[in-house]
Amino acid sequence: MSEKLFTTRSVAETEKLAADIAGKLKGGEVLALLGDLGAGKTTFVRGLAKALGVSSKEYVRSPTFTLMNVYQGRFPLYHFDFYRLNEAGSFEQLGFEEHFAGEGISVIEWAEKFPHILPAQHFKLHFKVIDENTREIIVPAQLL
Ligand code: ADP
Ligand code: MG
Repeated sequence: MSEKLFTTRSVAETEKLAADIAGKLKGGEVLALLGDLGAGKTTFVRGLAKALGVSSKEYVRSPTFTLMNVYQGRFPLYHFDFYRLNEAGSFEQLGFEEHFAGEGISVIEWAEKFPHILPAQHFKLHFKVIDENTREIIVPAQLL
């Protein structure tokens, strides 16, 4: 599967990349966001939300304690974070399968923690800290 490496040098550039990708989404995609704390995953989701027309009154932040946030835009945007998730049992409570199967867009931070629960069809985006304001983001070509 071919991929493309992007280097962003600000939050705005990461949001812009997300907005470009948002423009390609058809609904039903599952995006697995991989990479360390501070690598820009939540920033990317914020860019997606804005580009999908989610109201600017909705504050996009890591759903660390709630496990999932839903934002309503052109598609429903389901924002998951596995960072604090310890048990596979919680997945049923979240109703994962239903969300993945619908026409909403699912984005999952720390998806690498529970790779087996991802649907067969998903896109992996790798986020990496280079220095204070620089991030590398590897995006599957199908999203571009
Ligand atoms: P994660 O969800 O991966 O933990 P966040 O998006 O919450 O990461 O945080 C990224 C942090 O890095 C923010 O404090 C942001 O201001 C900072 N930052 C600096 N440069 C960038 C960049 N190029 N892209 C995204 N975030 C950046
Ligand atoms: Mg985050």
